[in-house]
Amino acid sequence: MKTYHGSCHCQAIRFEADIDLADGTMRCNCSFCRKIRCWATVVMPEKFRLLAGDADLAEYQFGAKNERHFFCKHCGVRPFGIAQSPRRGRFYGVSVSCLDDAAIAELVSAPVTYVDGLNDNWDTPPEEVGYL
Ligand SMILES: [Zn+2]
Repeated sequence: MKTYHGSCHCQAIRFEADIDLADGTMRCNCSFCRKIRCWATVVMPEKFRLLAGDADLAEYQFGAKNERHFFCKHCGVRPFGIAQSPRRGRFYGVSVSCLDDAAIAELVSAPVTYVDGLNDNWDTPPEEVGYL
C-alpha cells in the first residue's frame, strides 16, 4: 500500500489515495468506460483524499446511476468516480491514468481485471478485451 498523488490534466483537481496497485485494476466495456478508455482501481472512501478542486468538478451519471463520474470542468479529465455496489458498499473508482507518481513499472505490473459492465455481469469477463 502506497500513497499516490493524482490529478486531472490542468491540475485544478488534485487528490491523494492509498492504493496497492498489485491488488488489481479494472477495465470495463460499458458504454461510458469504453468511450473514455477508463482504467480504474477500487479505493475505499477512507483511503481517498481530495486535496483541491472541489468547485472544479462536474458530475455525470447515466443508466442505473450506480456511479457518479466526476470530471474536471476545465480539461475534461475524469480523475475518479464514486460508486455504490451491493458487494463493496461505497467506493471510489480512481483513474489509474491520473496517478502522477505511479512508476511505469508499477503500472505495467498492475494486474487488470476485465469486467462486462455493458451487460451488468460482473463475474464473467467479456469475450473480447483487446480493444478496451
Ligand atoms: Zn482539469
